[in-house]
Amino acid sequence: MRIVDIIVKKRDHGELSKEEIDFFIQGYCRGDIPDYQAAALAMAIQLNGMSSQETKELTLAMAHSGEVLDLSKAVPITVDKHSTGGVGDKTSLVVAPTVSACGLAVGKMSGRGLGFSGGTLDKLESIPGFRCDLSTEEFIEQLKSIGIVLTGQSADLAPADGKLYELRDVTGTVDSIPLIASSIMSKKISAGAQAILLDVKVGIGAFMTNLKDARELAELMVEIGKMVGRKTVAVLSDMNQPLGKSVGNSLELLEAIDTLNGGGPADFREHCLDISGHMLALGGLARDEMQGKQMAENALAEGKSLVKFRELVQAQGGDVRYVDEPDRFPKARLIQTINSPRNGTLAEINACNAGEVAVFLGGGREEKGDTIDHSVGVVVAHKVGDLVRKGEPLFTIHANDETKLDVAIQKMLAAHRWSDQPVKPLPLYYGVIR
Ligand code: URA
Repeated sequence: MRIVDIIVKKRDHGELSKEEIDFFIQGYCRGDIPDYQAAALAMAIQLNGMSSQETKELTLAMAHSGEVLDLSKAVPITVDKHSTGGVGDKTSLVVAPTVSACGLAVGKMSGRGLGFSGGTLDKLESIPGFRCDLSTEEFIEQLKSIGIVLTGQSADLAPADGKLYELRDVTGTVDSIPLIASSIMSKKISAGAQAILLDVKVGIGAFMTNLKDARELAELMVEIGKMVGRKTVAVLSDMNQPLGKSVGNSLELLEAIDTLNGGGPADFREHCLDISGHMLALGGLARDEMQGKQMAENALAEGKSLVKFRELVQAQGGDVRYVDEPDRFPKARLIQTINSPRNGTLAEINACNAGEVAVFLGGGREEKGDTIDHSVGVVVAHKVGDLVRKGEPLFTIHANDETKLDVAIQKMLAAHRWSDQPVKPLPLYYGVIR
C-alpha cells in the first residue's frame, strides 16, 4: 500500500477502506508518513468529506493508536466531556471540578487551541508548573485518589490525535465534520470514560457555523459513542458571541476561578451548571439534568468546586498560590479599555473575530510548535441585547505589542454590530441529542 494512492483516492472522492485508514494512522504515528502527505490527506478529507463508516474507522484507528483505558477497574463510573471548540469556552475548568465535587469521577483528555478557538490545556498551563502530560499510570492513580484528571494526549493515549491535531491547526483543516468527530471521539474512547457529554458549539465562533452541520456532527459523535458502548449525549450550544466575557488563556482561567469563587458572568455560570447537570445525570448520580443542575449549584455555592479545582492543580504540579491569589498571574504590558463610540443595542459581538484577535495577539499558534503568550487577549464588557451608552466601557485589550494592540482595537470595534431597535439576547442552547 502507498500513502500517495490513498491521498489520490480521497482527492477523487473515493471511499477509504479500514485497511487504508489503518495504514495511514499507523504510518503517520510511526513517522513513516511525513507531515506533508498527512496534510494532503487531511485537506482531501476536509474538501471531500468521509462517509459515516469511514469516520468510524478513522476514530477507532486513532483511538487504538495508543492504549484504550478501562477505568472501571479504578472507579465505578467516570464521566467525560468535550467541547467542539469555541471562543471564551472555559467550561471544563468549572464543570470538571464541580461534577467531581458532587462525587462523580471526571477523567478528561483535553485539547490545545485550534484555529481561532481556545484549548483547555493552554489555559491550564497559564498556571506555572501545571502538567498536561500525565502517563497512563498517573491518570489512573489520580482518578482513584482525587476523582479528577484534566490532561492532554500523551504517547500512551490517542497519540494519532496529538499529531493530527497539531497539523490541522496550521493547515486549514480544522472545520471538517469527520476530522472533528474522529479527533474528539478517539480521545474520549481511549480515555476510558463510560459516559460522555459533548458540547457541540454552533455559530460564527464555532467550527460548525450552522445548525444543520452542528446537528450532523453531534449525531455522528453520539452514534460513535453508542457503537463503542459509551452513554453519550450532545448539547447544541450557541457560539455566536464569546462565552462569558474573557478570551485568552490566563484571562479565561481568571474568569473560571472567579466563577468557582461564586462570581463570573451569568451566561457562563448558567452554561457550566447546565453541562454539569447533564454529566451528573449521565453518570447516574442525578435522576435527571435538572436535579444534576441543582447538585452542581450547591457544590459551587458551598465552595466545593473551588476546593476540587485546587486539588486538581496541586495533583498536576501547578502552583496553587495562583488559584488562591489570582493577582499573581502575569499581566500583559499594555492593557487598554475602549469605550463605546455610540448609544445603541448590541446586535452582534462576533465571536470568531474575538477569537482571531486573541490568536493574533499571541494567544494561539500561527505555526506548529509555536509558543504562546498566556497573558494576552480581550475582555468584552457586554452581551448581545445589552443597551450600551456612549462612553461606557466596551472591551479591554491585553497586549504585549503596540502595533498589534492598535490592530486588535480596530478589529474588536468592527466585531461589535449595533441596532437602534431592541435585540433579543442569544439563546444558550439549540437542542439536545441523546
Ligand atoms: N476539539 C478536538 O479535540 N478536536 C477537534 O478537532 C475540534 C475540537
